[in-house]
Amino acid sequence: MNINVKLPPAKGVFIDNAWRPSHSGRTLAMLAPATGQVIASIAAGDAEDVDLAVKSARRSLEQGAWGRMTATERGRLLSRLGRLIEDHAEELAKLEAADTGKPMKQAKADVTAVARYFEYYGAAADKVHGDTIPFLDGYLVTTLYEPLGVTGHIIPWNYPGQMFGRTVAPALAMGNATVVKPAEEACLVPLRIAELAVEAGFPEGALNVVPGLGEEAGAALAAHPGIDFLSFTGSPEVGTLVQIAAAKNHIGCTLELGGKSPQIVFADADMDAALASVAAAIVQNAGQTCSAGSRVLVERRIWDRFLADLKTRFEKIQAGTPEMDLDLGPVISAGQKSRIEGILKRAEASGAMVLARGSIAAGAPSEGFYVAPAVYQNVDPSSELAREEVFGPVLAAMPFDDEADAIKLANSTEFGLVAGVWSGDGSRAMRVARKVRVGQMYINGYGAGGGIELPFGGMKKSGHGREKGFEALYELAAMKTLVVKHG
Ligand code: NAD
Repeated sequence: MNINVKLPPAKGVFIDNAWRPSHSGRTLAMLAPATGQVIASIAAGDAEDVDLAVKSARRSLEQGAWGRMTATERGRLLSRLGRLIEDHAEELAKLEAADTGKPMKQAKADVTAVARYFEYYGAAADKVHGDTIPFLDGYLVTTLYEPLGVTGHIIPWNYPGQMFGRTVAPALAMGNATVVKPAEEACLVPLRIAELAVEAGFPEGALNVVPGLGEEAGAALAAHPGIDFLSFTGSPEVGTLVQIAAAKNHIGCTLELGGKSPQIVFADADMDAALASVAAAIVQNAGQTCSAGSRVLVERRIWDRFLADLKTRFEKIQAGTPEMDLDLGPVISAGQKSRIEGILKRAEASGAMVLARGSIAAGAPSEGFYVAPAVYQNVDPSSELAREEVFGPVLAAMPFDDEADAIKLANSTEFGLVAGVWSGDGSRAMRVARKVRVGQMYINGYGAGGGIELPFGGMKKSGHGREKGFEALYELAAMKTLVVKHG
């Protein structure tokens, strides 16, 4: 790896503001997706480590400084951490790029977003107000937003830093004490941010991080009886397990699962803008984005022209190492690469045809996990490629005849995360936007996930609950109705 980054030694698990060896003493090797080489190792935390972390979080709420802090003080700490992340932006971006393989420009943008999460929720911490409710004569009724308690956060590998900021910053802003289980494939940035949190002044126990395997540390966190709420981002399969674990402990959870998000292009759309967006939305992060625009639905009248232009664009797209800083990097692992190749083989066997393929840059190491980005046509709407999440740089193109057909096709998968509609007819765009069942809808644009300020989450198999924006603060708070009889 040429990226000049100091990779941290396996420091253990992060509990009570300090590294301690994991209970088992085992470690996990971290591979650089760009080269296939081991670049670091992390502790393999397990149920014993999770238990210590949950106890530390509980202590911080019930006996420690964290539970006594005012919302304003918490907000200041979050803002300070946001600034520290900005101060360390270069280091963190290199770490993120080495860990995930993404191009440096993407890694830098990710770190900016992580800092922004802490800045946004730092500023919001003391602005969550309850209501007063008119009631019977002689009563005062008010609603209070209180911390839920100890919150558990299980995050994926595709945007390790951003996912950490997205779920942890609002939880801390609301005064919860957190235990985070980052992904075993990529988690160096969350581990480094934990250290920066100490520098920012967070008291012991507010933030604990237990790296490890999903079926060990993750499952232990999900099932721990000391957890008051779970926030999970990852696959629908594991999301089901997490929701079952939450149900057994009678606690709430948010699930941010996958998507099969469509961009719908009508004949009267601004073609250049739509083409650029359609290509970018599947290439970003090598298609490993829950809100990747993995389907493009094109009005049949412009099908040939649109696809010809898309082909021209796509054939220029190149994958390479983070330092090459091209359009995309490798996918996360050898397993993920062969999973994607399997889906494509089955798609081709069932009649789907490659319209265009980008390339892998000469000089990208052959041991890296590169997948050339591709657009497929002749995709049967009922096939795996049209309905299932690939989580790779693969776009399925399908035609539609009219507005009703477009809406039906857009809603034809089990997912419902994000969608975009492109049309010069504002009324039509609005009608379509209202009928597509997703948590975030774009008209004449598409932002994979959108900004920090915009509430985000799924419908159907994409999950439930909302993150980002002010909504996340309400998800991570317990509302209490206080009734005072004053006579
Ligand atoms: P995954 O579900 O395998 O892993 C996610 C996290 O869950 C990891 O930390 C993992 O260690 C942990 N985990 C695994 N098994 C577990 C278990 N039995 N109990 C508890 N935790 C366990 O998902 P992934 O492969 O890491 O990520 C890819 C998936 O995440 C895709 O489907 C993608 O769409 C989804 N995703 C969704 C969003 C969103 O916001 N909706 C964002 C990013 C990724």
